[in-house]
Amino acid sequence: MAEVTREDILNVLDGISDPARGQSIVALGMIAGIQIKDGHVAFGIEVDPAQAKAMEPVRAEAEKRVHALPGVLTVTAVLTAEKQAAQPSHGGQQQGQRVPPLELPGIGAVIAVASGKGGVGKSTTAVNLALALAASGKSVGLLDADVYGPSIPRMLGITGKPQMAEDKKVIPMERHGIKCMSMGFLIDEETPIIWRGPMATGALEQLMRDVAWGQLDVLVVDMPPGTGDIHLSMAQRAPLTGAVIVSTPQDIALLDARKGLNMFRKVEVPVFGLIENMSYFVCPHCGERTEIFSHGGAKREAERLGMDFLGEIPLDIAIRETSDGGEPIVVSDPDSPHSQAYRTIAARVWEKIGESQSQQAAGAPRIVMQ
Ligand code: ADP
Repeated sequence: MAEVTREDILNVLDGISDPARGQSIVALGMIAGIQIKDGHVAFGIEVDPAQAKAMEPVRAEAEKRVHALPGVLTVTAVLTAEKQAAQPSHGGQQQGQRVPPLELPGIGAVIAVASGKGGVGKSTTAVNLALALAASGKSVGLLDADVYGPSIPRMLGITGKPQMAEDKKVIPMERHGIKCMSMGFLIDEETPIIWRGPMATGALEQLMRDVAWGQLDVLVVDMPPGTGDIHLSMAQRAPLTGAVIVSTPQDIALLDARKGLNMFRKVEVPVFGLIENMSYFVCPHCGERTEIFSHGGAKREAERLGMDFLGEIPLDIAIRETSDGGEPIVVSDPDSPHSQAYRTIAARVWEKIGESQSQQAAGAPRIVMQ
């Protein structure tokens, strides 16, 4: 089937009016950043942030009309408030922009795996954590929301694209016993996209809401690295049960982990704790253990910040080779000490999920570590 065109999209959107001004949203120049890729369409509707709530039906209608076009598989329409967002903010959320978290019936818990910066092994940890949860009998989904470098499909050895169910929901890919969706399925990895905050949040929403996840005990979300506005709005919109922060020993000193903690605190998501990755080095030849960075820094820093320390994973070529080769260590060498370490971390995370949910069920306020 021929790919839908920009003109097709603008044609159907032209029939929708801005309720405040009574003119077409296309004629008013409100449609921004149309992206089309293999039947996946994304675009923004520029609005005054104060009007965001009133414009929600317009956004929903725009999505519906584009969805009805032949050849369109998924649509993400997001309200953007770029001009206003470019003004210096005063630290608070702009009025009208705060949206409640999505509701995801069927998904028991949603866990964010975050890091203060890229390259610390966040995705590797997310994959092995998800597989370790699955190894303990849980039904697990893994959502790759890393807009800057969606690497989960490669780490799970997934090739191809997900299929569409009859209800137009996307069927997640399955591998090693877990379900997976990735930004990588929606965008062309070769073409860099400059993500604007609302675009990224919209894409994340689509990956959670328009995917036939079925019944899951837990959905693990591999967040983009960093703690900027994109992260904040994602953390706010995803119905997170809790978050774990991955850090290397040297980043602890740079306070990246603390930034992550503060970000989740802002949106009142409990931080379950810190995972120290590349914690020490075991020589593959002689087995000698070397503390490359000041090992143990994460544990001390976590304690100082009142965060739990969830465990440490060494720097080992076996971890890199297995995850880069599509067979992460937890499945390819389940008896190795590293796989055991991931399973211990997974068990702690599962415990924390239970604690957090029973607190919420009891109506207690969420505990946010100070
Ligand atoms: P991030 O998601 O933080 O950007 P990745 O998970 O993509 O980081 O990891 C970056 C690189 O480091 C990858 O090649 C990965 O295989 C490797 N890596 C991650 N953790 C370890 C580890 N504990 N030991 C060895 N290599 C690792």
